[in-house]
Amino acid sequence: MSFDVQALRADFPALAQEVNGHPLHYFDNAATTLKPRSVIAALDRYNSLDTANVHRGLHELSARATTAYEATRGKLGEWLGVPESEVVYTRGTTESINIVAQCWARENLRSDDEIAISALEHHANIVPWQIVARQTGARLVVLPLNAQNHIDLEAAAARIGPRTRLLAISAGSNAIGSLNPLPELIALAKAQGARVLVDGAQVAIRGPIELPALGVDFYCASAHKMFGPTGSGLLWAPRELLEAMPPWMGGGDMIETVRFEASSYAEPPWKFEAGTPNIAGMIGFGAALDYLQTLDHAAIAAHEDALLARARAGLEEIDGLRILGPRVHSLPLVSFVLEGAHEQDVATLLNENGIAVRTGHHCAMPLMAELGLRGTIRASFSAYNTLDEVDHLCHSMARIARLLRA
Ligand code: PMP
Repeated sequence: MSFDVQALRADFPALAQEVNGHPLHYFDNAATTLKPRSVIAALDRYNSLDTANVHRGLHELSARATTAYEATRGKLGEWLGVPESEVVYTRGTTESINIVAQCWARENLRSDDEIAISALEHHANIVPWQIVARQTGARLVVLPLNAQNHIDLEAAAARIGPRTRLLAISAGSNAIGSLNPLPELIALAKAQGARVLVDGAQVAIRGPIELPALGVDFYCASAHKMFGPTGSGLLWAPRELLEAMPPWMGGGDMIETVRFEASSYAEPPWKFEAGTPNIAGMIGFGAALDYLQTLDHAAIAAHEDALLARARAGLEEIDGLRILGPRVHSLPLVSFVLEGAHEQDVATLLNENGIAVRTGHHCAMPLMAELGLRGTIRASFSAYNTLDEVDHLCHSMARIARLLRA
């Protein structure tokens, strides 16, 4: 295992291109990561040679496709430190959270029960709970932030109480970077006998976390934020929870027997996987996990911290620029606003310099309202970004600030 940023960059063909006459500076990793060659090759192999539906065929191509497709379950089990039979394939974090909302919360919540979320959540971890709250009469309780824009633990302790049946919390904020104090929050929820869902979209790439030891009941993530393809992801829950939950969608592949009077369902995890799945996506996800297993994640974390520190230092020098996220316990991203400038104008000018950032509410409109903002400009880093690239961002931002504020 080693970490050499230039060697890593060579694995990602998208990085070799120019945009508007500049080398691509890809700082939109919190939205989706680029894909290494091995993932692209796995997608290509399935699409060009192993094309077949899974599970149902006895012919060679179907056997190859099924083996490659099912192998990802074991790789995910290893990555998360859980049995592969507890890994449900989904379209991504959004679908995973919706499955828990409809198949667990709708079945188990009653009028006046409470679902605790935080002020930092992505819409994917807000709207499914609003829907199920309407269906069951349960209420949404929001854990507020402190002055550093982290979840305020004292306020959380006051709001998580005997009515709390579920804590649904992200591991980290895609919008401003705050890493949430999971062990403390989970302990508060467990003391009340509540279940805990963790939205791992932003952290699942970072390496194994011991979910059962942490006290998590449901864990959700997306392949496309882990060097894998879009449209594939996972839900993990302990077997007894999966067994007690009704199916998600009905159809082929999720059944044991079907009669017109009634049907019986397959065992979990297949009970939740109706219809022809995203076969290529799951095979590509497996290749992404193989790739992640070759990397030194401690070295990458140190590298990402260095990128973040360099970006903060460079951007803080700029007059009128304000960084929203916390100084410590942050994902490798900077989310900022430039006084007097519209964030879309800033992003357009950065694009002219070959720099890809994201602007807007980052699917966290309630958080933006809390911060009194329309949106922010977000540069999010990954292992393949370099300090030189971050310097280019800071210099470009300094020029843009002079231009827009002149
Ligand atoms: N939660 C968080 C924290 C995210 O960053 C995202 C993606 N931006 C999601 C949920 C939704 O993930 P997906 O769109 O892959 O379902």
